[in-house]
Amino acid sequence: MTLPDPALVVLIGASGSGKSTWAAARYRAAEIVSSDALRGVVGSGEHDLEASADAFTLLEQVVAARLGRRLTTVVDTLGTDVPRRRRWLEAARAAGLPAVAVVLDTPAAVCRSRNAARDRRVPARVLTSQLAAVAAATTQLADEGWRVIRVAHEETAPGRGEVVRDEVSTEGSLDRRGTGLRGVVLQLSRFPAEGDLLAWLRDVGGAAEAAGLSGIALMDHLIQIPQVGRAWDPIPEPWVTLGALAASTTRLQLGTLVTPVTFREPGITAKAAATLSALSGGRAFVGLGAGWWEREHTAYGLGFPSARERLDALERGVELMKALWAPGTKPYAGQRVSLPETTSYPRPVGPIPVIVGGGGGRSLRIAARLGDGCNVPSDEVGLAKVERYLELVRAEGREVSEVHATVLDLPLVGSDRDDVWARVERHRGRTAAPAFAARHHAGIAAEHAERLAGLAERGVTTAFVAPVGLTTADDVLALAPLASAFG
Ligand code: GDP
Ligand code: MG
Repeated sequence: MTLPDPALVVLIGASGSGKSTWAAARYRAAEIVSSDALRGVVGSGEHDLEASADAFTLLEQVVAARLGRRLTTVVDTLGTDVPRRRRWLEAARAAGLPAVAVVLDTPAAVCRSRNAARDRRVPARVLTSQLAAVAAATTQLADEGWRVIRVAHEETAPGRGEVVRDEVSTEGSLDRRGTGLRGVVLQLSRFPAEGDLLAWLRDVGGAAEAAGLSGIALMDHLIQIPQVGRAWDPIPEPWVTLGALAASTTRLQLGTLVTPVTFREPGITAKAAATLSALSGGRAFVGLGAGWWEREHTAYGLGFPSARERLDALERGVELMKALWAPGTKPYAGQRVSLPETTSYPRPVGPIPVIVGGGGGRSLRIAARLGDGCNVPSDEVGLAKVERYLELVRAEGREVSEVHATVLDLPLVGSDRDDVWARVERHRGRTAAPAFAARHHAGIAAEHAERLAGLAERGVTTAFVAPVGLTTADDVLALAPLASAFG
């Protein structure tokens, strides 16, 4: 059962039906607003009924304030008060949050026996009237406008979610995955500023293999980009760095996402990629784009021509690389490129996929006509482009099965809900937490796996995943549940 998030979640159930237990297993303590707990704050304890009025005044304030900030709010009261329910629902609607009513469908006998076992019991006739009120509420919720979820009673108490680390098998995972780019490729965009870079790369590469990921892609930038970090954060040259990764891994696909065609003449990129292919047993791929950041070009003494010229260069570049990688040394005379010979040794070990980055119309056409894949963002706009790309591929008379429809995904992955929220707070900067969490689909690995499986259903073959704040090999191991999202 997946609940919308952020959302207003109102619990409905008699004493002992398991409301507080259900909420504690799924939400952070700060997200749960409980009338009992607030009685303990303004009264002598959770059962101090004389403090009820004060407790409910506070509860209403907390609910209104949280919903106003679009923060997930779980209301733990009996849930049977109609005017209060209506007020909360309206506040959720005003904030644009879904309103979910969670009904604890626990048999009356179970509530009674749990009540009897408590040291502070609710009088029997009070419990009876609670049960009647819950039954009455249950029939009205859908008409009131709630999305209703019924939690069936189970004998075993629900546990707090899955510990990802324990599910990672370092044994046998090597044979589990086919070769090729299909699946989840880790995109590395941040590197340690201190310490041993090579040792870090070895750790991260080993963790990616152990987690069952399909590959590692490196950003190709000369200065760290503002979207990721500060200008003085290290950003190593990718083709050199990929050579190091080739030496310390055995199965990962290795390449860039993406190499701007403006940095190196495409012949030089073709040479680097062929060499990487030879060093790695055929695991190289090339992400190629038009380049976009003027500052890094100027700083390194490189030209930064118009967008149109850069796209021309991208188109020529793909054609030229393929010509150099083709068998033999014969002259090449193509549509945009002519070469007197195509002498290029070492030979690549098998084909080198070229993934053309960028979602503009022309980039997609280049990707469909000359390349082996596209790369676009993983949001709805990007998914529409994936659809468009696959149409263009078919229009070229090519098989959709022979290309890679890839997306770049920037998930925030935590080990449990508390960790997810701690990471949101650490990385959100000045962005409001709910907006940041939504942009990065903040959640535990299992939730990301489900989401990526949804992308696969829409034609995506590969997700390049750049997790927010990824710093250690443990962060990479935590991605293991995502690896199987593409089947
Ligand atoms: P509330 O009064 O509705 O908030 O109910 P609580 O969450 O406090 O639960 C009442 C008692 O039932 C506690 O002792 C819980 O440990 C127990 N309990 C709650 N949910 C479950 C469940 O799903 N299975 C079992 N076996 N016990 C539960
Ligand atoms: Mg309770």
